[in-house]
Amino acid sequence: MDDQDQEEVGGLDSRGGELDDGGGDGGDGGDGGDGGDGGDGGVEVPQQVADLAEASVPNAIRGIRACKRCGILKTLEQFINDGCENCPFLDMIDNPERANVCTSAFYEGAAALMDPRESWAAKWIRTDGYLPGVYAISITGNFDRDIEEDLESRGIRWRCKAAAATTAS
Ligand SMILES: [Zn+2]
Repeated sequence: MDDQDQEEVGGLDSRGGELDDGGGDGGDGGDGGDGGDGGDGGVEVPQQVADLAEASVPNAIRGIRACKRCGILKTLEQFINDGCENCPFLDMIDNPERANVCTSAFYEGAAALMDPRESWAAKWIRTDGYLPGVYAISITGNFDRDIEEDLESRGIRWRCKAAAATTAS
């Protein structure tokens, strides 16, 4: 037993759910001879890699929602358990109702961002500055009026957009 940390995120569910990971596992380098390499523990890693290890990614395929503010994709359960790491002010932890209104099931596309500070894709979808994770390309939805006012008063911008008027019925 070499005590390496478990790298894969998720795996709560023993059957199915093979999350085809969009990037994210921290590249194991060595293919020099099999077996018998003594401890490579305690390696200093760059901050980016450390951040990456902390990234939370969806742990299931179904039931994924996007944070209306930053667009990170996770299951509702993850939002309730951990909140949104980019938007702690949304107060979703242990608050299913709040998590429900602050996230949207209507989003398009997904981009796994390993280093949002350096990524052109992150700039393109305006998630540079957020933490590594999987982000929706676009999010459809509205915050409730009171949340919107609260965010506005703090100068916080959000990524979700109301559905196009043409689709309203
Ligand atoms: Zn968020």
